[in-house]
Amino acid sequence: MAATRSTSADLLHDTALVSATAPGRHLLLVTDGNVAPLYRERVEAVFEGRALHTVVLPPGEQEKTLARHAELMTALSRLGASRDACVLALGGGVVGDLAGFAAATWMRGVRFVQLPTTLLAMVDSSVGGKTAVDLPEGKNLVGAFHQPAAVIADTTTLDTLPERELRAGLAEVVKYGALGDADFFDWIESNAAALLSRDAHALSEAIARSVRHKAAIVARDEHEGGERALLNLGHSFAHAIEAEQGFGGMVHGEAVAVGMVLAGRLSERLGLAPAAPADRLAALLQRLGLPTALPEDLEAPALLGRMRLDKKNLSGRLRLILWRDIGRAIIVPDVDEDQVLAT
Ligand code: ADP
Ligand code: ZN
Repeated sequence: MAATRSTSADLLHDTALVSATAPGRHLLLVTDGNVAPLYRERVEAVFEGRALHTVVLPPGEQEKTLARHAELMTALSRLGASRDACVLALGGGVVGDLAGFAAATWMRGVRFVQLPTTLLAMVDSSVGGKTAVDLPEGKNLVGAFHQPAAVIADTTTLDTLPERELRAGLAEVVKYGALGDADFFDWIESNAAALLSRDAHALSEAIARSVRHKAAIVARDEHEGGERALLNLGHSFAHAIEAEQGFGGMVHGEAVAVGMVLAGRLSERLGLAPAAPADRLAALLQRLGLPTALPEDLEAPALLGRMRLDKKNLSGRLRLILWRDIGRAIIVPDVDEDQVLAT
């Protein structure tokens, strides 16, 4: 797990803290075209006088490619980077996944630091060490487990995050309550308005509690032999929705919101859960401005076809994360496809 993890306001201005995370001689800073104008200078100032090169990528998931990975390899070799290099990711999950995969593969692995600037990256993708790029055939198909040496989540960067991205991040926050912590779910219900208005205390609390959940699960099951799969609540549906819609459809967090509601309804249909918790989940997600139903133009059989391709399936059987109630997710290894279609 990450050796250091800090969450609070204005951390990127803390020169001692940030510079201590990256002691190496050669530094590669990776960011994107939306984040660079906002926070790039702040980070570069921390490393003034060191051999730092910054790569600014066009924003968006479509940049998480092998071609961009090759660009980062070239940038590292031009820097003259050796095994003591450090790669820093400043941005959302896209930048983090790509920069992390560069760190994992340069000279078989160098130090990696995450400076997440989206709520989604702070609560989810920056923790746990999954790094990857996409192929035309599917998301995250090429990747490695490579833990960051440090994650510094400066919550003040969330002030500039577009509303839609904030809400999408809240879907993953709700996920932690829904899968394993009914008290946290209650807390999110009570604090929904504060979270939406970007109240600093509420956001810090939500991030800290989410990260604690994720870190605990990852610490017990780093390579997803078992329990880590619970973190995929709603995600088999979500990945199918994202794949069917292609770029320009729902963003990941929105698809996860719909996916969690579908997982909840399927659990009720299969008799695993009492009736109604899916309604409660849908109500909370709606209050957070998230979608809770499939878009009209998606066909159930096409989605099921996509779900069959999911990496989590074992020997051709549909393996889904469902639940017994809010806070009690379970892994169901062999779900009846007709029931999924009916849901
Ligand atoms: P995610 O973190 O949700 O996986 P991205 O890395 O694609 O997704 O980031 C979502 C979008 O938000 C991108 O367009 C990115 O450039 C932008 N972005 C990231 N952080 C900030 C920020 N703090 N302020 C403004 N825009 C940001
Ligand atoms: Zn997710």
